[in-house]
Amino acid sequence: MTDSTVGNHRSLKGKVAIITGGASGIGEATARLFTQHGTRMVVIADIQDQLGKQVASSIGIDKCSYVHCDVSDEDQVKSTVESTVEKYGQLDIMFSNAGILSSSEQTVLELDILGFDRLFAVNVRGMALCVKHAARAMVERGVSGSIVCTGSVAASHGAKARTDYCMTKHAVLGLVRSASLQLGEHGIRVNSVSPNGLATPLTCRVQGKSVEEVEKVYETFARLKGVLLKVEHVADAVLFLACNEFVSGHDLVVDGVFVPSSSTTT
Ligand code: NAD
Repeated sequence: MTDSTVGNHRSLKGKVAIITGGASGIGEATARLFTQHGTRMVVIADIQDQLGKQVASSIGIDKCSYVHCDVSDEDQVKSTVESTVEKYGQLDIMFSNAGILSSSEQTVLELDILGFDRLFAVNVRGMALCVKHAARAMVERGVSGSIVCTGSVAASHGAKARTDYCMTKHAVLGLVRSASLQLGEHGIRVNSVSPNGLATPLTCRVQGKSVEEVEKVYETFARLKGVLLKVEHVADAVLFLACNEFVSGHDLVVDGVFVPSSSTTT
């Protein structure tokens, strides 16, 4: 049995975590929240080296480090996990969050296959590689760890545009459901968090809009009024999944009651 966290749901005391896509948006907010809740070390794995190093040093080099890792490349994912275990002794949490969005609002009629392949390489292959290597490290050391993958509301609905992105997020749920069944006997939990649309560098860049403009678009995506979805709300859901000892194989949707008629693109 692990040290019980029941009654102490929000403690990550002494835990070592890897957060992919931790240089920005949801990943960055989660790195900050994990640290506030006691992680011994958060390793940010990203391809934006300068930004990732800045985020790590703003959190504190004794609590957070940065490593270059393109999640679509198996060697880089493997070496990120191995170097984390070598430096910090173990891996307790993998937040597999790095993801990209298709660059245009294409329907299936205009599907750009080059973009499709890149999207699948990062959003599907990357997620699978992170789960694979994190789980291997946990199984080898008998760590009852937690793996959280970032899905999307697009994982449970069709999309009016960005068919390819929507498909990748459906695949994340398949990965989580299968891996949770397979890893349960090792005490490893696997879940996903699926946010509604929110303003992050990803969505602002792709839409060519400011944070305020993107927030205006996403206001219509949730039925819950008076609260705008922020990265901190998503990070809070990830924290729950990282801490809880008995939730596995689930998708935690953070959507403020999704409005199905809105254009699901994220
Ligand atoms: P973001 O662009 O702020 O952060 C994504 C991070 O992933 C960036 O730092 C980026 O450099 C990194 N990244 C991209 N490709 C990578 C690669 N190959 N290897 C390693 N790192 C890579 O965007 P975000 O909105 O915080 O997105 C995080 C996750 O949330 C993504 O999986 C995205 O699909 C998902 N999501 C976002 C929204 C939204 O509306 N913003 C909604 C639902 C789901």
